[in-house]
Amino acid sequence: MSKFANIIVDISHEKVDRPFQYRVPEGMEDQLFAGVRVQIPFGSGNTLRTGYVIELTDEAEFPPERMKQISCVLGSKMEPQQRMIALAAWMKSQYGSTMIGALKTVLPARRKVAQQEKKEIALAISREEAQALLGQCEKKHQKAKVRLLTELLKEEILPWELVTKRLNISPQTIKSLAGAGAIRARTVSCYRNPVKLDAARENGKRLSDAQRHIVQTVLADYDVRQRKPCLIHGITGSGKTEVYLALIEGMIKRGKQAIVLIPEIALTYQTLLRFYKRFGDRVSVMNSTLSPGEKQDQIERAKKGELDVIIGPRSALFVPFPDLGMILIDEEHENSYKSESMPRYHARETALKLAQLSDAVVVMGSATPSLEAYSRAVSGEFSLFSLTERLTGGQLPTVYVEDLRKELKEGNRSIFSRRLQEKLEDRLKKGEQSILFINRRGYAGFVSCRSCGYVCKCPHCEVSLSEHRNGKLICHYCGYEQPAVKLCPSCGSRYISGFRAGTEAVEEQLLMRYPKARVLRMDADTTRTKDSYEKILSAFSNQEADILVGTQMIVKGHDFPNVTLVGVLAADLSLSVNDYRAGERTFQLLTQAAGRAGRGERAGEVVIQTYQPDHYCIRHAARQDYNGFYQEEMLYRDLLSYPPVSHILAVQLFSAKEEEAIAAAQEAARIARSMAENDRESGTGMPAADIPATVVIGPAPAQIGKINDIYRYGIYIKNKDYQRLVAIKDEIERFRRKQERPKGSCQFDFDPMNAY
Ligand code: ADP
Ligand code: ZN
Ligand code: ZN
Repeated sequence: MSKFANIIVDISHEKVDRPFQYRVPEGMEDQLFAGVRVQIPFGSGNTLRTGYVIELTDEAEFPPERMKQISCVLGSKMEPQQRMIALAAWMKSQYGSTMIGALKTVLPARRKVAQQEKKEIALAISREEAQALLGQCEKKHQKAKVRLLTELLKEEILPWELVTKRLNISPQTIKSLAGAGAIRARTVSCYRNPVKLDAARENGKRLSDAQRHIVQTVLADYDVRQRKPCLIHGITGSGKTEVYLALIEGMIKRGKQAIVLIPEIALTYQTLLRFYKRFGDRVSVMNSTLSPGEKQDQIERAKKGELDVIIGPRSALFVPFPDLGMILIDEEHENSYKSESMPRYHARETALKLAQLSDAVVVMGSATPSLEAYSRAVSGEFSLFSLTERLTGGQLPTVYVEDLRKELKEGNRSIFSRRLQEKLEDRLKKGEQSILFINRRGYAGFVSCRSCGYVCKCPHCEVSLSEHRNGKLICHYCGYEQPAVKLCPSCGSRYISGFRAGTEAVEEQLLMRYPKARVLRMDADTTRTKDSYEKILSAFSNQEADILVGTQMIVKGHDFPNVTLVGVLAADLSLSVNDYRAGERTFQLLTQAAGRAGRGERAGEVVIQTYQPDHYCIRHAARQDYNGFYQEEMLYRDLLSYPPVSHILAVQLFSAKEEEAIAAAQEAARIARSMAENDRESGTGMPAADIPATVVIGPAPAQIGKINDIYRYGIYIKNKDYQRLVAIKDEIERFRRKQERPKGSCQFDFDPMNAY
């Protein structure tokens, strides 16, 4: 039972840095939790104020004799803000960060941003009186007054600009009418609205049977208080978004609000427009391009009940709706749902927690669900729905897999296989569009053979080794290292090296081969400015180019009906990244890339070039066979204890002194190993049946062993039980807190998305 409570007296981003500690009176413990409202004596006068418990602890920050005591607990309904504090406490415990760090993630920064105001002119007399006044003015030929009164009789409130500019009414006229009490000039505050769309409202489409089944089932379950999360597995273009819209409509009818998470990169004008056409200005957006004032206004609008829907990337979760009914997560498998800064939360898991705190339901959708979500659907923890047909009539494309080893053997040294060349020429001739996709993620220094496709892998971890500048090949999971290879260990070829081929090189080669082709390039370099991404997409959409070359950013979301050919230049690139999700990512990217072809009436074709045509990811992607991929990938994850079968905690230790980083990593590893040992020995010396085994790997230097002169070492800890990993994290934190001067700094990452 905790003896002390850390309390903030005002919920705002800045104030969370200054919590005050109070004693918990006996008998009150079980009423306290993070987020609960309490009364506390505050300041020198001990006036009673309301505060929020953010944390309970046994560690006193100053002598308990001098500590004041909580007066009482304030019950009643949870406010949205209280839920956010409870959510922050959960994030702190599940992901490892400070409570302040977690609170700053969920609470909006309350900056001093001026309220925006607008001036308007309103009619201050009855319509009959106004009509009479209008008659008098007409008689006196007071044209300006006539103009204004005529407009005010149509619309009782007019914007100031319209009156002074469009109607050309002078300040004297306004003053005169106001002086007579006929009109009122006033200033009202208004919210900044980040979306300036002026689209006509549209009703929903007539849903297909499969769509209607999902909508009806989910809403009927909701009405009987069933809150089981749902996963919609639906190929691209199968009408998932239309289902989301219908579900939101159902929520609005029930007086509830909805949050829609969409990866930032997929949050295009087209997507937004669909929501606006449906829900008008009851929907808003929350993303990184908003100014602080705009963000704050969206939060105010949500709190006041002026919004029904908010759309945005993962941070949209923290918009405090009074009656949240549903959280929708589109493209559920996207990596960007995991935060890369502390706390390293996953939006899916955090949404599930928030839904639980708010009595809401989570609905996820994807064409290629993450193994995490799909395995939970298979086990029955989530309800599974599927949509298997494209509603616009488009067919799934024909897929060709081209073996690059064979191309080289038969004398084709270009980066385009003969099949791809032939198809590209055909499209150029017919005036149809093509997309060439190159996955640069794989750039990170893995080594492969161009003759046989062999990839240098760690003998212990089944992930590819990374080439370091000193020429050594290193495994970043276990620290295994070996010297660089000069000849391919498999076939003896000299063509073994780090694979390098960027979008620029591809563009150059295209232009050499097809000088008349119009080529657009989209990658990190060409999309630096805010709207260059949209510009390139819309240029391509308007058929201003024949071929679009790009990185993974082009496979997301956009609909190009005239694209009938998609080429994947080297599918292996993403396959050989040195982390266990490489296969899953490759499958997702290939499936999505293929989904770009043939969205219109004409059938599409896809050419996948690869050095490993027999690799299961490529085989299943070519057949668009999610289930086949899922079965095989799960076997691999099980065999090597990777998520979702097991969980992984990465502990990262940083220090400017290398010895210190190593020592800190060794301490952390020792704590983890001794806890693992205890688990094993509990009871009979046999593994305790209810505690799965813990595996501790490392310490090893991180992928980039030193950044800005800070050394980085890490350990990986695996266990099937996530909470066991949380306990190990807690123990490492406790150990470091007890030290007078902890060595270096320490960060945690649960089920990391990237290798360190
Ligand atoms: P997804 O989100 O799965 O990619 P969308 O909801 O965007 O699918 O639908 C793909 C296309 O099909 C869109 O052009 C959409 O307007 C259309 N569509 C969706 N549902 C229907 C329907 N019930 N009837 C006709 N067209 C539909
Ligand atoms: Zn070889
Ligand atoms: Zn290894």
